[in-house]
Amino acid sequence: MTDKNIEDPEQTAISRRRLVKYAGVGATLAAASPLVGAAGTAYAHDDDRKQEKSGDSGKRVWRAGDHHVHSEYSGEFDTSTNPPTFHKGADAVYPIVTNAIMAKNFGLSWVMCTDHGGPTHSKVNLEQAYPDLLRSRVLVPEVLQFWGMEFDAPALDHHTLMIPHHSDEAQQLFELESRFAKNDPFPADRGRDTEAKMIEFLKAAKDMRRKPLVIAHHASRSATGLGVYGQDTPREFRNGNNIAPEIYVGFEGAPGHQAGPLNGGARGGYGNYPTHGGFDQMTARVGGLWDSLLGEGRRWWITATSDSHVHWTRGGSDFWPGEYSKTHVLARQDYADIMDGLRNGRVWVGTGDLITSLDLTASNRGDEAAMGETLTVSRRNRTDVEIEIRFRPLEGKNGNGDRPEVRRVDLITGQITGPSAGLDTDTNPTTKVVARFGPRDWRRQGKEYVIKHTLRDVEGDMYARVRGTSTDEVEPLADGLESPWDDLWFYSNPVFVHVR
Ligand SMILES: [Zn+2]
Repeated sequence: MTDKNIEDPEQTAISRRRLVKYAGVGATLAAASPLVGAAGTAYAHDDDRKQEKSGDSGKRVWRAGDHHVHSEYSGEFDTSTNPPTFHKGADAVYPIVTNAIMAKNFGLSWVMCTDHGGPTHSKVNLEQAYPDLLRSRVLVPEVLQFWGMEFDAPALDHHTLMIPHHSDEAQQLFELESRFAKNDPFPADRGRDTEAKMIEFLKAAKDMRRKPLVIAHHASRSATGLGVYGQDTPREFRNGNNIAPEIYVGFEGAPGHQAGPLNGGARGGYGNYPTHGGFDQMTARVGGLWDSLLGEGRRWWITATSDSHVHWTRGGSDFWPGEYSKTHVLARQDYADIMDGLRNGRVWVGTGDLITSLDLTASNRGDEAAMGETLTVSRRNRTDVEIEIRFRPLEGKNGNGDRPEVRRVDLITGQITGPSAGLDTDTNPTTKVVARFGPRDWRRQGKEYVIKHTLRDVEGDMYARVRGTSTDEVEPLADGLESPWDDLWFYSNPVFVHVR
C-alpha cells in the first residue's frame, strides 16, 4: 500500500472507500472532517492555512505535532506460549487512525506512533502495527505520521525512537528494536539492560544512512525528590549526546499524562516528585539540569507530548494528541524537514494553546539568529545583543473552551562555559531570569505581541531562552491536584550567542 504518493484521484477514492470499510466509524469521521475541526477554534495561523490549502506546504512555518502517542499496539504478551502471544489494546486502546484523526482535529500537522516494546514486539510492530500506519496515512493525509516506537532504552526510562520516512522505515525500526530494545528478547536477556548497550545502540543509529532521533520521555518520573535522579541521570544524557549529538537531542520538557489531576491522579503520572507547571524539574528549575547542559554548549532540546493511552473522560490520565500539549517545529510540511527542525532546535512548546506562535531572535549589527541558531558577534565591538520576543495569542478557545491569557513572559539567559568538570553536574549558577514582562511591556503589531530587550556588553558565549505563563507564579510551583487548564506555560528552545 502506498500512502501520500497516490496520484490518480479515482484510485484514491477507491482506496479510501476500502479503508473506510476497514477502519469503521473513525475513518468515516476522517473522510468527513475539515483540517481544523474543533468548532470556533483557530489553532494555526489563518494565512498559513490558506497557503497550505492552495498547495503551498513548502514554506517553513510553525507546525504543531506530538512525537509520543500510543495506540492499541501498546498491548500485552502472554508469555506462557512460545513465541509469546500478543493481545492488542491492553495498555493503550485507540487505533492508529483514531489518534491521527484526533491529532488533526486539535490542529496538529505531524504525529508519531510510539508503542511500548515487549518480548518479540519488534515483530508485532513490523507485521501488524506498521500496515495499520500505512492505512492511516492514506486516510488522514493532512497529518504527517511518523513511524517509530517508545524505545525501552537500555539502563534508562522510555525514549522516543523516531525513524525517518522512507520505503524501508519498517525494516529500519525492526533492526534497531530487535537488536537493542531491552525488553525485546524472549526469553529475557538482562545483558540488554546496560549503559554500554545504550551506547552501542546510539553508535549503530548514528552509522545508519538515514538517521533516527532519540528523545527521553518523562525523564524525572522515577525521581524521588528535587535534584534527585531516578532511571535517567545527567551522566547518561551527556555520554549519549557525546557519542551521537545528531541522534540523542533532548528530553520532554513537559511529559504527557497531563490530565491526571482531572481523575485525582498526579500530573504527568509523577507520583514521587511532582512536575512544576506541568514541566519536568530538569527543565522547570532555572539554573537546573537543562541549563547545565546548555551551559556546556550542548544542543539539547525540550519537547511536549501527550503520551496518550486512554483519554481522561474514559478513566485514563490523558489528553488527545494536541488537545493540551503541542511541540511546534519550524518546518515545511515534509517529514524530513520536521525531523530536521527537531534535530536542530527550531522548536518551542506550550500547553493549553496559551499562544499559537513564538519567535525569539538575537541580533547584532544586522546579523540575526533564531531558536536553535547561533549569532556570532565580535569582541571588538562593544557588544550589545538585541533580543526580540514575538508571540501570538490564541484567537478563539482552546481545547477546554477557555480563552487563556498570557500574564507574564520571562527572558532567561545563561553563560556557556564549556564542558562541566563532572558528568553528574546538574546546575548552571550563571542562569537567571534577566527580565520579566507583563502586558504593559509588550506592544501589539498586527496579530502579534512584540517585546524587545537589550543585553548589554555581552562578553562571552551565552544563550537566551523564553518562557511564559497564564499564572502569576514567579517560578513554576510544584503541582498538586489543580486543573492543568489553570496552569499553562510555554517554553522556547534557546538561541545562542558566540563571541568571537
Ligand atoms: Zn509513553
